[in-house]
Amino acid sequence: MPAWFKKARRPIAAQDKASRVPEGLWVKCPSCGKALYNKELTANLHVCPKCAHHFRMTAADRLRMLFDGADWTEHDVELRSNDPLRFTDTKPYRARLEASIKATGLNDAIIVGSGRLDDIPVVIGAMEYSFIGGSMGVVVGEKIARAAERALQERCPLIIVSCSGGARMMEGALSLMQMAKIAAALGRLDRAGVPYVSILTDPTTGGVTASFAMLGDVHIAEPKALIGFAGPRVIEQTIRQKLPEGFQRSEFLLAKGFIDAIVDRRELKATLALLLRAMQGLPSPAPKTAAAETETETESETTIRLARPAPDQT
Ligand SMILES: [Zn+2]
Repeated sequence: MPAWFKKARRPIAAQDKASRVPEGLWVKCPSCGKALYNKELTANLHVCPKCAHHFRMTAADRLRMLFDGADWTEHDVELRSNDPLRFTDTKPYRARLEASIKATGLNDAIIVGSGRLDDIPVVIGAMEYSFIGGSMGVVVGEKIARAAERALQERCPLIIVSCSGGARMMEGALSLMQMAKIAAALGRLDRAGVPYVSILTDPTTGGVTASFAMLGDVHIAEPKALIGFAGPRVIEQTIRQKLPEGFQRSEFLLAKGFIDAIVDRRELKATLALLLRAMQGLPSPAPKTAAAETETETESETTIRLARPAPDQT
């Protein structure tokens, strides 16, 4: 029989390209199971409009969300790891770096920039989870330390958005040293009275939690974010006890006093603006009335007011 009458056998999974839904057009919410239109999800800052599940966000999207417009400057773009330990696990670290640089368009797991947030000059660093799990090696450490130094020099608040699996094991002890370096830089910022706000997103773990993520003047977490040092399994095996429900999630940490607030991502920028103005004793940009102008609060009065619980909580 001539070959052209034969219907070639094809696996069922292989459909015509044209009939397939373009990749990434719809996303299934892992929390409520609803199918979400990707464009709509992006417009909603990657928060499920049905159940408020917070999807992970890229560092670039995060900075676009926080800075006013496109008028911000990125710093230390060129810093790249030189694989100081010549490390190889299942594949060479150098190859992992190459693949991550290609996939993300970034040179390492953080973007640092300075610009304005609701017209307040700020330095912001946002971690990129898709770059080797947002792990902190020499480059991430150096960029955060420099961000702190820049904030100190310009006397403007520093904001770090953490999203990380912890220290980068491919850089061994050099990764761990970043914790001390960043802590020292943040210490100088603290002594100069320059605010540092830590934003904890899903996940914030390991050496990042053990250093700068928990060294803020204020700690704000996103809802239901995983925040912890060691993983639950390691802890259970060590203490030989079952961990409580919701352990290591934002809500649990807020109840235990580890963090100061849980803020929905859609409210984050407005909350930060309010907070930074209060911390720096800046006037609110709200339309001025005669009453507001006569009532001026001293810096210490502001501090006291902020430290007190709201009337409805007492
Ligand atoms: Zn949902």
